[in-house]
Amino acid sequence: MAASDHVGIEQFMTGVKKRNPGETEFHQAVYEVAQYVFDYIKDKEIYHEYQILRRIAEPDRVISFRVCWEDDKGNIRVQRGYRVQNNNAIGPYKGGIRFHPSVNQSILKFLAFEQTFKNSLTGLPMGGGKGGSDFNPKGKSTHEIMRFCQSFMTELYRHVGADVDIPAGDIGVGGREIGFMFGQYKRITNQYTGVLTGKGLEYGGSLVRTEATGYGAVYFLEDMLNKAGNAIEGKTAIISGSGNVATHAAEKILHRGGKPLTLSDSGGFILDPDGLTQEKIDWVKVHKTHRRGRIEDYAKEFKGATFHAGKRPWDVKADLALPCATQNEITTAEAKTMIKNGVIAVSEGANMPTEQDGIHAFLDAKVLFGPSKAANAGGVAVSGLEISQNQQRMSWGADDLQKQLRNIMQSIHEKCVQYGDTKDPKYIDYVKGANIAGFTKVADAMLAYGVV
Ligand code: NDP
Repeated sequence: MAASDHVGIEQFMTGVKKRNPGETEFHQAVYEVAQYVFDYIKDKEIYHEYQILRRIAEPDRVISFRVCWEDDKGNIRVQRGYRVQNNNAIGPYKGGIRFHPSVNQSILKFLAFEQTFKNSLTGLPMGGGKGGSDFNPKGKSTHEIMRFCQSFMTELYRHVGADVDIPAGDIGVGGREIGFMFGQYKRITNQYTGVLTGKGLEYGGSLVRTEATGYGAVYFLEDMLNKAGNAIEGKTAIISGSGNVATHAAEKILHRGGKPLTLSDSGGFILDPDGLTQEKIDWVKVHKTHRRGRIEDYAKEFKGATFHAGKRPWDVKADLALPCATQNEITTAEAKTMIKNGVIAVSEGANMPTEQDGIHAFLDAKVLFGPSKAANAGGVAVSGLEISQNQQRMSWGADDLQKQLRNIMQSIHEKCVQYGDTKDPKYIDYVKGANIAGFTKVADAMLAYGVV
C-alpha cells in the first residue's frame, strides 16, 4: 500500500463516530491518541497494514448486564452494570470499577481505551479494561451498598479472574466496596485469588496503593518541573476533587514544600488562602471518606476558608494545577483563564479532565502539561505490584513500594520525554510522548500475534 492510500485521520474518525454513535467521550479519547499516532506511523507501513490503531479502538468486548438489588425499604431496584475489556495484548485486562449516576457505555469505553495506553506506560504486564454502573452510592446505607456490590459481582465474576481481568476501584468504589465484591467473588467461586486490587491489607491488599495515584501525579509534576529547571517548593497549587486522588495529591504537594489552596466536590470548591496542612487534609479524608460528608463543611471547620457553591477552582490564581475529580472538568475557557493567571504546570490526576481544545491551549502557551494516562498511572502501577505480591503470596514493605512507585513514575516521565520532542528543544509535549510511548508497546505485541 502506498503512503497516499492510507486513510487520513478525518476519515478514520468518521469511521469511529459511525461505529460508536453518540459516544462523545469515546470519540474524544480516540482522537487524542490518533492525532499523534497518525503522524508517528505515517512511514511505518506495518502498523497500517495490520490496522493496529483501528483494532485498539475496537474493544475486545463490551459486557453489559442487569444488576438487581433491594433497598432498605424493600423496593426492588434495577441498575445497569458494564465491563469493557479493551485490549489484552500485553497482559490481562486491568482497570477500575466506577459507581456514579453518569456512568454509561461511552464513558467506560473511553476509560478502557485510555487504560490500555496507561498500563503500557507503566512497563508492567497489564492490558486495558474498565467497568462500573450507573448506581449512585450517595445517600445509600452500608447494607444497601453491600447488596448492590454483591449483586454486581454475581454477574461480573464469570468475566474476570486473576489471569483474565483484574478490576480495581475508581470513583465511588473504595476499600469498602472492593471488600464486598471480593467477598462475593470468593463465595461464588470458592477461590481465594487476586481477582481485584485495592484490597484491604488483611486480605491481600498492598501498602501504598491508596496513596499511589495522588502521589504519582505529584511525582510526575515534580519531574516535569525539574526537567525545566524548576521545583514544587514554594509554589501554590489548585486541586479539584476531595476523594482519594485529590487528598493524596494535596498531601504530596505539602511534602514537597508547596501550598495546596483548594479542594472541591460536585457541590463546589473550598479556598483556603492559608493553605491546606496535614491536619486539614486528614480531616477531609475522614470527613469525605468515612463520614461521607461534603466539602462545604471544610469552610465551617477551618477559619479563613471560603466555600464557592456550584463553582470549580480554576479561576483561583496559582502556579500549579491538579485536576483530580472527573472527566472534562477543565473547559477550554477555564484553561485560558489559568494560562492568563500564570499557571506553569498542570498534572492530571483524574482521567481526561481537560477538554481537547483546553489541552491545545496549554501546549500552545508552553505550560508543562502531564496528561492523565501518564500522570495518574501511579495507581494502576501499584495495583500491578499488588498482583505480583498476590501471585507470590508475599507482602512487600512500604519503603520498598514507595521506591518502586517513584521509579515507575520517573520511567514514565523518561518515556514521555523520549517521544515528546517539539521544535523547541526546551519544551516537551508530554501528550505526544505519552500517546506514542503507550502505543508502541501494545502495537508491537499485537503485530507479534498476527491477525487475531
Ligand atoms: P473518589 O470517588 O474518591 O473522589 C471523586 C471526587 O471527584 C469527589 O470529590 C467527587 O465529588 C468528585 N466528582 C466526581 N464526579 C464529579 C463531577 N461530575 N463533578 C464534580 N466533582 C465530581 O474518586 P477518585 O479520587 O478515586 O477518582 C478521581 C479521578 O481520578 C477519577 O477521574 C478517576 O477515574 C481518576 N483515577 C483514580 C484512580 C485511583 O486510584 N483512585 C486511578 C487513576 C485515575 P462528590 O463527592 O461530590 O461526588
